[in-house]
Amino acid sequence: MSEKKKFKVTYSTLASPDPLLHQYYDAAVIEAKAGFGKTFPMLIGGEKRFAEKTFAKTSPIDTDMVMGYFQYGSEQDAHDAIAAARAAFPGWRDTPWQERVAIMRKAADLISDRLFHMAAVMSIEIGKNRLEALGDVEETADLIRYNCDALEKNEGYIRPLLSESERHHNRSVLKPYGVWVVISPFNFPAALAGGPSGAALVAGNAVVLKPATDTPYTAWLLAECFRDAGVPDGVFNYITGSGRVVGQTLLDDPEVDGVTFTGSYDVGMHILRQFAQGKYPRPVIAEMGGKNPVIISKNADLDKAAMGVMRSAFGLQGQKCSAASRVYVHQEVKDPFMEKLLGLTEQINVGDPTDKANWMGPVANKGAYEDYQRYVADLREHGRIIYGGETLPGNGYYVAPTIVDDLPLDHPLWKEEMFLPIVTIAPFEKLEDAMTWANDVDYGLTAGFFSEDDEEIQWWLDNIEAGVLYVNRASGATTGAWPGYQSFGGWKGSGSTGKAAGSFYYLPQYMHEQSQTIVD
Ligand code: NAP
Ligand code: MG
Repeated sequence: MSEKKKFKVTYSTLASPDPLLHQYYDAAVIEAKAGFGKTFPMLIGGEKRFAEKTFAKTSPIDTDMVMGYFQYGSEQDAHDAIAAARAAFPGWRDTPWQERVAIMRKAADLISDRLFHMAAVMSIEIGKNRLEALGDVEETADLIRYNCDALEKNEGYIRPLLSESERHHNRSVLKPYGVWVVISPFNFPAALAGGPSGAALVAGNAVVLKPATDTPYTAWLLAECFRDAGVPDGVFNYITGSGRVVGQTLLDDPEVDGVTFTGSYDVGMHILRQFAQGKYPRPVIAEMGGKNPVIISKNADLDKAAMGVMRSAFGLQGQKCSAASRVYVHQEVKDPFMEKLLGLTEQINVGDPTDKANWMGPVANKGAYEDYQRYVADLREHGRIIYGGETLPGNGYYVAPTIVDDLPLDHPLWKEEMFLPIVTIAPFEKLEDAMTWANDVDYGLTAGFFSEDDEEIQWWLDNIEAGVLYVNRASGATTGAWPGYQSFGGWKGSGSTGKAAGSFYYLPQYMHEQSQTIVD
């Protein structure tokens, strides 16, 4: 296998994949399946930890397929993980930052080396198609590399300050907070666990990761990369179990110094409110949901618009925080736009996403499958479903991509994140109205605009309220950020810090500033 060609996966590699990429992925799926059925431990203080109970992780592709058994961690396990991180913190903090960078670069390289295995497991774990899964894994490595680069470029964030005289030696130093909890969602099981963990670690914090209950396997593979790269015992801990029990216990522990949460608005706001009641302020980086709008002007190239909307509404079954879920299209171009969107949507194959032919896989779990049926019933009653609206055959959670027209603008589903392959579409007469509707939600994550008129584009950029904007992007109207190329973070109810991942201001959030004035 040492002969295996190395791939540098980026969005451009994925746009026209090498046939070898498919061959390696197909082999990795067979290999991954052959290894299913094992029991996986938690990792606390460098030791394998087994809980009293385990849970079976099944695949949404085929609900009879058990991938492995994972620990149902207890409150005690959560406290022990925090204690292990606390004990390991001073040694890691005092490790020269250059050494921390070297270890984290090694971790990133191990992730890239294990690309195909991790992507195969992820596809089966959460129903992600091959190219999206490969992208998620490689994005994880790139997020880690990005933050290593940031620490290097800023020379460890140790900077001179002004000095009153020659006798004064003044400097600003960013130092790690201490124990950092990372709670990750199911939809980007590698990138949103590994990205924040990597940032916290390279900055010098000790980490406890609690992945979503739907995605413990990918997170375990990530934990192995950190361990194998030489992250010391206790500096990175991996704990599984329910968010309400293990997640909540981690957050309740007063030894926690900071948190990165990525997930729904409700849980994120709950964490923010809880932390505001602590003895003193502690940082919470909360990356939350989206209700991402697309506006299509009468001056749009409708081929670009239809392709961009189709890809962003239905990619990963609409379960990206950046998914396009609302489209406002100028009434004069609505009919031709709908025709093009329908034409593209009809070509989507839904099925086992490890099969190259299928662009859409199943939705993540039973809850999402039931939500889909409930939403569709509501949308059928109050609007008009012009495509989809049905569950599909198979022993997994398969649903059709769904396009909804004629939904009254005061219907609650224009504002609620459904997190499913459902897009609602409304006509507008004046661009100003579309802008008002687009901004009239509690979210502000991503947004898309289609127009060939430069003045209109500038007006849209000046007025839309969201953290990630795309204009005329056929490869994804609202989706598809890559570290260093697009900063990714939300405004309003989509994010708590106003700073984005994969960009200049992310890493400093994992450290607090200290000025040091020394007089000779
Ligand atoms: P979720 O239900 O909010 O869960 C996220 C994580 O929080 C999971 O690990 C969950 O554990 C844990 N959790 C739940 N209740 C908790 C509690 N009381 N205390 C501590 N932890 C708790 O979100 P999801 O369904 O996994 O992911 C979908 C959501 O994430 C969507 O809203 C999406 O928009 C958002 N998202 C946002 C971004 C962004 O960058 N802004 C990126 C991706 C996804 P369990 O799984 O065990 O319940
Ligand atoms: Mg959830």
